Amino acid sequence: MSKPNIALIGMGLIGSSLGHALKKNNLVAHVSGYARSPETRARALDIGFVDSVHDTAIEACADADIVFFNTPLSAIKGLAEEIIPTLKDNVILTDVGSVKKGVIDELTPLLGGRVHLVPGHPIAGTEESGPDSGFAELFDGRWCILTPSGETSLIAVEQIAKLWRDMGSEVEFMEAEHHDLVLAITSHLPHLIAYNIVGTASQLESDTRSDVIKYSASGFRDFTRIASSDPIMWRDIFLQNKDAVLEMLGRFSEDLTALQRAIRRGDGEHLERIFTTTRAIRKSVVEAGQDTDAPNFGRDK
Ligand code: NAP
Repeated sequence: MSKPNIALIGMGLIGSSLGHALKKNNLVAHVSGYARSPETRARALDIGFVDSVHDTAIEACADADIVFFNTPLSAIKGLAEEIIPTLKDNVILTDVGSVKKGVIDELTPLLGGRVHLVPGHPIAGTEESGPDSGFAELFDGRWCILTPSGETSLIAVEQIAKLWRDMGSEVEFMEAEHHDLVLAITSHLPHLIAYNIVGTASQLESDTRSDVIKYSASGFRDFTRIASSDPIMWRDIFLQNKDAVLEMLGRFSEDLTALQRAIRRGDGEHLERIFTTTRAIRKSVVEAGQDTDAPNFGRDK
């Protein structure tokens, strides 16, 4: 099969990493790009992870065989409404959004039986954003979850799965609802907790606050990394994955209350039991190749 023309709609961390990875692995005939601001479009062309940039999403997609939506979740529907009527037949639309059911519910009614939808989510990222933050190896050795409906063309699904594998990812298929529930506990709740603890610290009296920063290497700094993630992206994730996040937050609050009670009552046995279990989970994460086994994440400080 000849190499496809691919349009990147959104050229921040994920969009630019896609451009780099597609080019580095020689998977694409032409990469066209569109982002909201002229600055990002000019920067993308300068860096060179796209072959052309365009002033509108419609122009960027004119010759595309595959369109990747790499914008915040709240922008996808409007962009899809704009481009779908102008696309060639059998174009494959895909995305990288962190919540899947909302994207599917929004886009499915727009497809008109003419174009295919293969929703996706690479489980890879950093706290950085923008066109300068991407790199070709971001997806290497990381999971990419695809959540196509049973009615989606298998050829389209396989083409997107192959692209991700060729960029170094391992591909897994899932129901969208299941994806959203799993990600609520593995990604969304940890971000909410990080935003909350850093937010609480930011409201402390100024003397205490400077000590919080000074001694942050004792644990706090790891939350600050997560809590510096893009506010718009994360606003959209919590709004779109409301039910699953509230479900997990409910369980989390119950467990937190149990810990609070154990501390108040001096129940060391309860604390030790929980902390021993969580230590074993850290070991499993490392054994599953999801993190380094070097102490302190391999930092020298
Ligand atoms: P990002 O670095 O902030 O980039 C977002 C891009 O979308 C920018 O190029 C921005 O253009 C563009 N954009 C925003 N609104 C737009 C609009 N209305 N029309 C056209 N372009 C628009 O974000 P990201 O981290 O790459 O995240 C993108 C998507 O990937 C999100 O849906 C997120 O859920 C998902 N995701 C993120 C991560 C992660 O760790 N960051 C991991 C997996 C999946 P301007 O630069 O011109 O504003």
